[in-house]
Amino acid sequence: MSDRFQQQLQTSLYFLMLIVIPTLGTLTALYLAFLGQITWLDIILCISMVILTELGITMGFHRMLVHQSFIAHPIVKFILLMLGSMALQGPASNWASVHLKHHAHTDDDDDPHSPTVKGWLHSHCGWIFTMAHDEHISARQTFGKKFQQDKMVQFFDATFFVWSMIGLFIPFLIGGLNGLLWGGFVRLFLALNFTWSVNSFCHIIGGRMFNTPDKSKNNLIVGILAMGEGWHNNHHAFPRSAFHGMAWWQIDISGYIIRLLEILHLVKNVYRVPNAVMQEKLISEK
Ligand SMILES: [Zn+2]
Ligand SMILES: [Zn+2]
Repeated sequence: MSDRFQQQLQTSLYFLMLIVIPTLGTLTALYLAFLGQITWLDIILCISMVILTELGITMGFHRMLVHQSFIAHPIVKFILLMLGSMALQGPASNWASVHLKHHAHTDDDDDPHSPTVKGWLHSHCGWIFTMAHDEHISARQTFGKKFQQDKMVQFFDATFFVWSMIGLFIPFLIGGLNGLLWGGFVRLFLALNFTWSVNSFCHIIGGRMFNTPDKSKNNLIVGILAMGEGWHNNHHAFPRSAFHGMAWWQIDISGYIIRLLEILHLVKNVYRVPNAVMQEKLISEK
């Protein structure tokens, strides 16, 4: 099988898993709900799976792995990487490498997903299907070397597909076919779009609290839906901060949970931006 054919096959599979199946699954679930075939269990499965897999991405892949905002107890680290792997956003080290490339090239020509360079659709999800295999490899080589030393990350990279399937099997086991529809496919549709909105809307729509050389924005709606990741201007100003919400009203669910885990001594070395450093970048426009 030629490399080119193999890549086309892989891209088609991604498109099927990330766009076609979640969209058709969501439409089917809504149609069945219209006919009265929906239970509280379906709704609880959907909401809890959205929250858990999103936290795997926001706390696990993003704040813990990429930005080393805190050090987690091995069991907490295992759970976060497991949940992140169920989110179907790619193996942990791949996700982390592409995201580090985004920070290194924010809103310039080499940004993997900038709406200001290649448009909204490309930044939202188009980049996933157009990013060449070589680009993934070079991102991993340039930005992902440190993840190759991490045995737990390597384990989750190697077993990514298994966790993705477990993330669909669990709701099926609990709620049957309706459980799979709501906890699997509707959950994927929602959680993927919430994460993708950080890359797209949060570089177009919203206010700015801090001076940064990019177009990053703080967006309240994405802030709530994406577990605090919508305070994206704050994040680009201070990438290592464990807390993306930097005003009392900036709801940051991932940040609240990190605080709770810190109190319970399940995470340590939680990075907080010193107030004086924060003041230096503060701008009046909000
Ligand atoms: Zn960004
Ligand atoms: Zn980041």
